[in-house]
Amino acid sequence: MQYPEPIAKLIESFMKLPGIGNKTATRLAFYAVDMNNQDVMDFADALKQTKENLKYCSICGNLTEEDPCEICRDKSRDQSTILVVEQPKDVMVMEKIQQYHGLYHVLHGVLSPIEGIGPEDINVSSLIKRLQKNDEVKEVIVATNATPEGESTAMYLSKLIRPSGIKVTRLARGLSMGADIEYADEMTLFKAVEGRTEI
Ligand SMILES: [Zn+2]
Repeated sequence: MQYPEPIAKLIESFMKLPGIGNKTATRLAFYAVDMNNQDVMDFADALKQTKENLKYCSICGNLTEEDPCEICRDKSRDQSTILVVEQPKDVMVMEKIQQYHGLYHVLHGVLSPIEGIGPEDINVSSLIKRLQKNDEVKEVIVATNATPEGESTAMYLSKLIRPSGIKVTRLARGLSMGADIEYADEMTLFKAVEGRTEI
C-alpha cells in the first residue's frame, strides 16, 4: 500500500532536512497529521516567513531582516576587527558569549578541493573588497571550524590578506581538532578568542 499523496509529499519534504532519513521523516509526517490546526498553521507560517523575510547582509553575508544587518549598521562596534566564520549560525554563537565586539564576515562554506569548492564558491571576494575599501580594519580573525577544510581556508585567507599589512589571526587551540564552532561551550570559545594567534 502507498501512502496518501499529502503524506508522501510531507515525508519527501522532511527528508530534505539535514540528518533526517526516511524513518524519521515518516514518523514526523504522521505526527503532523495528529497536530492541532493552529500548531500546523504556525509551523507552516514560520517556515514561510523565514524564507520571505530573511536575506543575507550585502556587506558581511550574515542572515538579516534588514540589509545591511544590525551588526554592520552599529557604528559603536569595533570597526578595526573582522571575525570570519563559516556560517551565519556561527555569528549567533559568537554574539552569545558577548566577548567579541567587532564586525563579522560569513563565508558560507569552506574551501574543499575534494568537493570542488574553490575561493570563487564562497564569500571571499567580498571580504577582500571590503578590506580594500575600508582602511580602518587592522585585524582579521579567522574563526573557521577546526577541520582540515577550516584550517586550509584559514591559511588561504592569511596568504591572501597578509601582504596588505592587515594582521590575520586564528582562534586558539582550545577548540579540539575537528570541532565545529557551534558546538564549543562558551568558556572554550571565550578562551579561543582571547588566546588567538597570528597566522
Ligand atoms: Zn552585515
